[in-house]
Amino acid sequence: MRFSEIYGNDALKGRLARMVDENRLGHAILFVEQEGMGALAFAIALSQYLNCEHPSGGDSCGECSSCRRHAHLTYPDLHFSFPISASPKLSDSEKKAPISSYFLRDWTALVQENPYFDSHDLYSAIGIENKAGAITVNEAKEIANTLSLQPYESQYKIQVIWEPEKMTTEAANKLLKLLEEPPAGTLFILVTHKMEKMLTTVLSRCQIIRLQPVERGEMAAILEQKSGLSKEDAMTFATVAAGSVGRAFAAVANAEGGGQLEDMVIALLDSSLDRSLSGVLETAESLASLGKDRQKQWCVTAEGFIRKMFMCAKGLDNIAFASAQETDSIGRLIPRIKESFYDKAAAALDAALRLIDANVSAKLIFADLANRFYLYV
Ligand SMILES: [Zn+2]
Repeated sequence: MRFSEIYGNDALKGRLARMVDENRLGHAILFVEQEGMGALAFAIALSQYLNCEHPSGGDSCGECSSCRRHAHLTYPDLHFSFPISASPKLSDSEKKAPISSYFLRDWTALVQENPYFDSHDLYSAIGIENKAGAITVNEAKEIANTLSLQPYESQYKIQVIWEPEKMTTEAANKLLKLLEEPPAGTLFILVTHKMEKMLTTVLSRCQIIRLQPVERGEMAAILEQKSGLSKEDAMTFATVAAGSVGRAFAAVANAEGGGQLEDMVIALLDSSLDRSLSGVLETAESLASLGKDRQKQWCVTAEGFIRKMFMCAKGLDNIAFASAQETDSIGRLIPRIKESFYDKAAAALDAALRLIDANVSAKLIFADLANRFYLYV
């Protein structure tokens, strides 16, 4: 990760490079941010710049052996700790004293896909969705071990700690000793989302650097370029994101996912109206192959879309809140649909939602639902 690849906080890129160039880096940096602002990307870019063989113009080269290994997160002197818990992904012996390195593969995949992720994304990647992650004393011991060894290549051993606010008191006390008397050549880079939850004794030993929210116009430009959104849509998402790149990306991904679901609602209605039983059953099969959560989301999406159709059919377009694209589809569909369809379809979708929760076979649920749409339209 080069500084130039990070979205936003441009002034900070120059500042960090100067700190390295002028040898003003302390032994512990604490990045403070709202989730998704890019502090983890800055931590990696800082390590990469520090170890680059040919840095120039305030950035790493992106091509030397060290830069390439930073891109793959395989640089041997760069270590990561983050909140975890005993995940079903671990073996029985690992579960007894879990540490971050057991999840390194999941962590690496997550960071490479999107370094602006939030804690929910992390927990889902490491399989602990329903538990709270923590940094325990086992982790603190592991950090102490790692830092007690000589660096392999770098002048530094770089220890990134993501969300140190989730450290247990026992772990924090152990870490405090390391922060007070770090082994030679240690660089701690901490990334917190809740500085107020950190021990003041830890805070007082860190150089604190705050990330700034990305300005709305800049965020819209990022979204136009990265996600191919129109100017208007990009501006809408930029407003919702409140300066967090991660939040903006998540909102766009969510909306795209919702769009796909709505496309399947329209496909089912079209095949029903065209009297294509094979088309209807094809959509039913696609729905049955989705995960349970997506199936439920689809039912809710379908209910919403059908409600909008009903409003438009009653001439209440102004309170249907349909998008331009939806208005096109709705305008095409409603002249062909029976008035009795709306109530019957809504009841069928409610029933489907209950059956999904009751673990009835998805194939049966969606074959039945699709048949009802075919009959009711
Ligand atoms: Zn390089």
